[in-house]
Amino acid sequence: MAERGDGISKLIEKSQQAKEFSYCPYSKFRVGAALLAHDGTIFTGCNVENACYNLGICAERNAISTAVSHGYKNFKAIAIASDMEEHVISPCGGCRQVMSEFGSDWDAYLTKPDGSFVKMTVMELLPTSFTPEDLKKKTLQKSN
Ligand SMILES: [Zn+2]
Repeated sequence: MAERGDGISKLIEKSQQAKEFSYCPYSKFRVGAALLAHDGTIFTGCNVENACYNLGICAERNAISTAVSHGYKNFKAIAIASDMEEHVISPCGGCRQVMSEFGSDWDAYLTKPDGSFVKMTVMELLPTSFTPEDLKKKTLQKSN
């Protein structure tokens, strides 16, 4: 756990507000995310489930997709909120991969409803990840 800075406090509050819009009739597990872009703009997202379970989308990916849809690709931080009182909410593997698409040197605030949090970088959440840089690396050339 860590102390809150002013900007982070607002970001966490936004993630908690986003959680209120969660559509989770199956899991009843509400999640909200608030994504802070390089210019201070905040994009939010909530989890959206579906009767076809595997079509659901997480709050983090929802927020990132919304930001990209508005032309943003440079992020400073993301705050993630749930209703778990005893544990911070942690992004799933898929969301960690999507976060790493936009760099590894930005922060994730894994929070509890009381606003306390654990801060980790995207690199810490997904070390040695497969990134866009990997697609530029030299590969074996096969001719067939
Ligand atoms: Zn996820």
